[in-house]
Amino acid sequence: MRRRQFLQSVTLAPVSPAAASASPRIPLRGLHLAAPRPADMELAQRFFEEVLPKEGVNTLFLEFNYGFRNRRFPKIVDEPALSPEQVRSLARTVRNAGAKLIPQINLLGHQSWAKTTFALLRTHPEFDESPGLYPENEGIYCRSYCPRHPNVHEVVLGLVDDLCELCDAHDFHAGLDEVFLLAEEACPRCRGANKAELFGGEVRLIHDHLAGRGTTLWMWADRFLDGAATGIGKWEASLDNTHMALPSIPKDVIMCDWHYEAAHPTAIWFALHGFRTASCPWRKASVALRQLDQIRAARRDATSVVADRLLGMIQTTWVGFTQFAKAYSGEKDASPQARETAACFRELFKDLRRG
Ligand SMILES: [Zn+2]
Repeated sequence: MRRRQFLQSVTLAPVSPAAASASPRIPLRGLHLAAPRPADMELAQRFFEEVLPKEGVNTLFLEFNYGFRNRRFPKIVDEPALSPEQVRSLARTVRNAGAKLIPQINLLGHQSWAKTTFALLRTHPEFDESPGLYPENEGIYCRSYCPRHPNVHEVVLGLVDDLCELCDAHDFHAGLDEVFLLAEEACPRCRGANKAELFGGEVRLIHDHLAGRGTTLWMWADRFLDGAATGIGKWEASLDNTHMALPSIPKDVIMCDWHYEAAHPTAIWFALHGFRTASCPWRKASVALRQLDQIRAARRDATSVVADRLLGMIQTTWVGFTQFAKAYSGEKDASPQARETAACFRELFKDLRRG
C-alpha cells in the first residue's frame, strides 16, 4: 500500500528538466579484433570494406600488440609482423568504410601467453616484474612489465606513439586487464608497494602521455571493480585492491567493461562514477542483448549527464582475426568458438541497428 502511494506520487510529479535527454540511438557500435597477420591482409581489407558498413560498426578496435614493425624500437617485434605500410593501409580501409580505428597494445599485463613471452620482455628482460622467475611461464597467467623500471616507459610509449601515428589515431586502447603480477616480491623497485597506487599511477602516466598528444585512453575496466563486494571474483574484477585506485583516475579515461557469462550491471556503476563506458560481450548473445537492454534503460532513465556516458557496445572476439572472418562468412573450417562469437556479433548488431 505504501509502495503504491509512493509510485503514484512519483507518477504525478512534474518531469525534471534534468531527466534523460540522450538520443535513443546508441553512439558506440564497436568491434574488437586481433590485427590480421600479413598473409591475411587481402581478407582483412575485403572484410572491413564489406562487413563494417553492412553491420553498422562505427568503431573498430584492432589489437596489434607487438605484431607490427615499429620504427622506434625495431627489435621489439613479434613475427609475422605487419609493415608500417600495411598498418597505414588497414587504417585507410577502415576509415573509408566509415569507422574509427582504435589501435591497441596491451600495456603492463599480458606480456606473455602460455609458454610464449612477447617481444617487449624477450628484448628487455630487465623490464620483467618477476625477472628470472617462472621458467617457461609455468605457474603464472601472464607476465607483467615493471611500472617502476626507469626505462620502460620510453620504450612502451614510443611504440604507442608510433602505432598511433601509423593509424592516424586520436584514441588508443591500452589493455591493462587481468594484471596479476604487480608489486611482486621479486621486483626490487615494487616490493611491498600498494597495488592500487602502482596500478593507478601506471594508468595516469599512460593517460597523461596520451593527453599530451590529444589522444584519448581506452582500457579494459576489470581492475577497477571490487571482486569481493560484487561477487564477480578475480578475473572480471579485482581481488587485490586495485579497485581502490578508481578515484585517482582522470574522468576522460573510457572504461571497456567486459563480462562474457552474465550481464552484471557494472557499466551503469562506472557511468554513475563519472566515466564514459562501453559494455563488452563475447560469445553469448543472450548476455550481449541484456547488456544492451541495460544501456538503453539507463540512457532512458538516468540524468542526461549519466546517460551520455553510456556510450554503447563493443563486441569482443578472442578467436583470431581469420577465424572470426571465416565464421562470419559461414566457412565450414571455422572453430565452434568462432561460430558462436560471430553469431553473437550478428545478433547484437541486428539489435543495435534498431536504433
Ligand atoms: Zn617492479
